[in-house]
Amino acid sequence: MEILSPAGNFEKLKFAVMYGANAVYAAGKMFGLRAKSANFSHEELVEAVSFCHENSAKIYITVNIFAHNSDIDKISNYLQFLQKIGVDALIISDPAIFNLAKQFAPKIPIHISTQANVVSWKSAEFWQKLGAERIILARELSINEIREIKEKVQGIELEMFVHGAMCMSYSGRCLLSSFLNKRDANKGECTQPCRWEYKLTEKTRPNEQFPIEEDHYGTYILNSKDLSLFDKIQQIIAAGIDSIKIEGRMKSLYYVANVTRVYKQAINDLTAHNSVLLKNELNKISHREYSEGFFENFNSDDMQNHESSAYIREYQFLGEVVDIDGNFATIKVRSKFAVGENIELIFPNLEDDFKIKVTQINDENNEPILFTKPNTKIKLFVGKSIPHNGILRKKK
Ligand code: SF4
Repeated sequence: MEILSPAGNFEKLKFAVMYGANAVYAAGKMFGLRAKSANFSHEELVEAVSFCHENSAKIYITVNIFAHNSDIDKISNYLQFLQKIGVDALIISDPAIFNLAKQFAPKIPIHISTQANVVSWKSAEFWQKLGAERIILARELSINEIREIKEKVQGIELEMFVHGAMCMSYSGRCLLSSFLNKRDANKGECTQPCRWEYKLTEKTRPNEQFPIEEDHYGTYILNSKDLSLFDKIQQIIAAGIDSIKIEGRMKSLYYVANVTRVYKQAINDLTAHNSVLLKNELNKISHREYSEGFFENFNSDDMQNHESSAYIREYQFLGEVVDIDGNFATIKVRSKFAVGENIELIFPNLEDDFKIKVTQINDENNEPILFTKPNTKIKLFVGKSIPHNGILRKKK
């Protein structure tokens, strides 16, 4: 089973692959539904394809906006470019783009985006007959429904989300952001108004605000919990799913790397002992309260958090190792840390992780300093030789 990780930019892509992703999904500067993510220029896409292929990974490109008339010509050129550079699949939701891909990039396999909301075997069969190779299933499906699709539509690959943020609407069918902020979620510009806290006012009492509460009839607040299907991984394998997907092109490099290695190990070697350890790692990344979404029984009580939309952040991402020289590691610093603090280094293989008390930091000129500053490079004394691609974090 493939592990498919998000790649919001080139650095995240490299760490996703180094931490075990078999494939990554990314977007160019246009047409890819995550406008606020850095995304990839044409030159970076060329480089990204080479990097993935050199490391035996695949790269899928999202072209999953709903295209307006003015987008059509630009998309056709873009699709030709993607075929030329050899991307491994296109992620598409709009039938118009599907047809353009068949015309302008016929050699690239097409994966039907979760934005297309495939929730039945008939819908999967429809796309298969048109020539799609894979369906990225809607998040709103139970495992029983997924099994039925697998059984009834032979020969099509199925991909499902196992980790990450959820929408309160059908993914991609939400107009909240367009309505409240004039930023279209279906063009990748969602401002996440479903996470805002809402109050109710009565027209003639504008200064009185009433909290919106849930009663036994259902929920009036929109904020979804995050998805985590870690505990269901054996059932997902048994259901014959081809690819499991991690959400989060906007998340940090640390998030992408850590979630990727957790699911990788869960697939390869899940034991009672390491299950606790791995699950614990999922609590060390920034996340909202977890839920198993629609996997078993639909239960709205378990899917939304009515109290707070804040992230749980027990650990802080400090930076990544970019070079190793004897007992020193060169670190690209993301957050401040200081001599005397306890920090952790994590690696693609969990068994390599270790903790240290910081005893020596040198600046780029090799002068000792007492603390680091974000967006600088420093040399950290780690006291031993370490594997490549380390990431630093500390408990808050
Ligand atoms: S507002 Fe919320 S539910 Fe709507 S698209 Fe954005 S994240 Fe999804």
